[in-house]
Amino acid sequence: MPEINRHKNDKSNKPPIDAAALLAWYDNNARALPWRVSPADRARGVAPNPYFVWLSEIMLQQTTVPTVGKYFAAFTSRWPTVQDLAAADRDDVLKEWAGLGYYARARNLHACANMVVDEFGGDFPQTAAELMNLPGIGPYTSAAIAAICYDQQVAVVDGNVDRVVARFTALDQPVRDAKPFVKSFVQQSVPKRAGDFAQSLMDLGATICAPKRANCLICPIAENCQGTKTADPTNFPVMPAKKQKPKRAGHAFVVENAKGEIWLQQRPEKGLLAAMTEVPGSEWHKLAEIKSDTIPEPEFPIRGEWRNCGSIEHVFTHFALTLTVWKLNSDEAPTQKGWWSKKQNLDAEALPTVFKKVLAKTFEE
Ligand code: SF4
Repeated sequence: MPEINRHKNDKSNKPPIDAAALLAWYDNNARALPWRVSPADRARGVAPNPYFVWLSEIMLQQTTVPTVGKYFAAFTSRWPTVQDLAAADRDDVLKEWAGLGYYARARNLHACANMVVDEFGGDFPQTAAELMNLPGIGPYTSAAIAAICYDQQVAVVDGNVDRVVARFTALDQPVRDAKPFVKSFVQQSVPKRAGDFAQSLMDLGATICAPKRANCLICPIAENCQGTKTADPTNFPVMPAKKQKPKRAGHAFVVENAKGEIWLQQRPEKGLLAAMTEVPGSEWHKLAEIKSDTIPEPEFPIRGEWRNCGSIEHVFTHFALTLTVWKLNSDEAPTQKGWWSKKQNLDAEALPTVFKKVLAKTFEE
């Protein structure tokens, strides 16, 4: 019989997570979060609100809990139900989202709310497989909603859980290369209280097995943890070799009129930061393609005494951007389609962070 070639991180080699010990810890230490039902209330039969859980999970993608708190409060006070959000104007949703980044999420949020209302009568589907068919809901979010709201026994693996499992199993490769292993390792431990288990692992990663320190002495799952037996468990997860992000550069043109208003315009409906608000600007040149560290001279949209205000840096997921910021005082509109916006109203515009940085640069003058 041929020898079975086992993966070096085969889960059969690793003792599982003690779900009972973890849940006992969670019962006394769960973080109080506005979208969460406490373990005590859950035991009394209080059900989580799927709209709140879904909204928070979409917001938490790439964003921290403290940042999400105020956005969650603003969204749920303005749109308390999924029906309210579905009926909202998409531009209002984008404006309320401004600053959270990854704006495709906001557009999908609105599309998803509409689908839940139109096709499911306002009730979210209850299984991860069905939830996956909704806009903006991927494998992680579908599992999180199904587990937290409906106790479906599925593995929920976010960044915190990745780290806990990497340490717990002393994973000897970067997590991004071992995703199936991490998921199946968690899956084998998921108990009936699947929602509380998912949240307990997230809380453990956020508080005890934290990114920069591992407080193993008070960890409820220390007994079977392989990482705590090593010299320093925070050496896990093993980091992948760093790749430098490609660089792009361009110009941004800020025009202010005599009334103290700024000229803004809408970005195209498709592509990066689609349908968001911006100031006029040049193409964002890929520096590798133009084989230069400097960018072509600016082609100003209107004539005038343009002042160079310096530059700003912004890092997107796939590239790092440098924009040279130019300012002109003029009553002439620099582009055909756009609008003047009072400086004091700029917070209400759907301006992504990169353009907030551009405007802040001109206000330093
Ligand atoms: S024992 Fe330490 S390293 Fe292991 S899971 Fe707990 S805090 Fe993390």
